[in-house]
Amino acid sequence: MTSSRRQRTHEHILQALAQHGDLTRAELSRLTGLSRSAIASAVTLLSDEGLLAEETAGPTGPSARGRRPTVIALRRRPGVVLAIDFGHSHITAAIADTSGTLLAECSAALDVDSQPQQALDTATELAGHALARAGHTSGEITGIAAGIPGPLDIRTQVVRAPTILREWIGLNPAEELSRRFGKPVAVANDADMGGRGEHTFGAARSIDDFLYIKASHGIGAGLVLGGRTYRGSSGIAGEIGHTHLEGATNLCRCGNRGCLETVVSITEVRRELAHVLPTEHPTDQARPTAADPPSLADLATRPAAARVITDAGRTLGLVLADLVNCLNPAAIILGGELGEAGEPLAEGVRESINRYAQPASAKAVTITASTLQQRSELLGAVATAIQQSAIG
Ligand SMILES: [Zn+2]
Repeated sequence: MTSSRRQRTHEHILQALAQHGDLTRAELSRLTGLSRSAIASAVTLLSDEGLLAEETAGPTGPSARGRRPTVIALRRRPGVVLAIDFGHSHITAAIADTSGTLLAECSAALDVDSQPQQALDTATELAGHALARAGHTSGEITGIAAGIPGPLDIRTQVVRAPTILREWIGLNPAEELSRRFGKPVAVANDADMGGRGEHTFGAARSIDDFLYIKASHGIGAGLVLGGRTYRGSSGIAGEIGHTHLEGATNLCRCGNRGCLETVVSITEVRRELAHVLPTEHPTDQARPTAADPPSLADLATRPAAARVITDAGRTLGLVLADLVNCLNPAAIILGGELGEAGEPLAEGVRESINRYAQPASAKAVTITASTLQQRSELLGAVATAIQQSAIG
């Protein structure tokens, strides 16, 4: 077995244990698709490295009789992990323990798109603040991961166009962050991180085939297929924001016309909400302003706003219906700033999928909003950093 193949096998096993807890060899084989012999040799090597231990499963109650099964358990390393979430206009850094419990979190508002170096420096400062708040030192950090809102080429680790992060095109964020922290940093696209966050800590914990949709200023999909993130040949799968909508003609930042995200984005929805809300609440002081917009969850409780949001969901659902036909997922989880709208958005997506996807595929998929309160990406970075620290 080549070393890179061996490493992939090890990552797969560690990920399954991190997600499902203690497992028997047979369960590990079933969940990872690896042969019993591949599991046996990997478990031996990982146990020698101190990452795994074979233990006898505890009694499960008065009715538990007979021989108790031997299970493989992940040995948590001491130390903490650092997770960074770069958004369109904010950065969050968080410190978590190696079981994924958040210990401290620091955020700052910043125009991330146009100031990459300042954004990377701010992330470093926020990490220092979070570390101090959690009462730990940089020497205790065992893994670091960051999510960025743009397509990342996995062959070169470089940000590709088209992207919200115009000034980041050609930049290697993993290299930049590693230099600042003096440690390796795993970097991935934010929608992929969001999918991982949902898979490990959120609405998709027991689901191995689902789509996580990050709908904010742009729209990206994190594809989790067969329990693993699907990134495509060069890492930029899931750029669904640039799917052409029939009849739409708005110019998109990618140079095409009529892309999904020229019609459905947090910017477009807030613009439409500003149009309908004054009519409903002529003296409403909570009217959206650029300085302090009310949350979409609050706005979505008003009937006129809910209609606007459901309509955006229907348009998003047109594109997702094709993906449902193609991939037959068990769930679609709606995240990002638009996902915060909750049920009115999910309702629109559901309507279009029921109308345009094949009935059997439409019946198989559940549409829900994320329950992680816009922390899917941050928690995905936590899960990635934990895996990185387990692999060492
Ligand atoms: Zn486009």
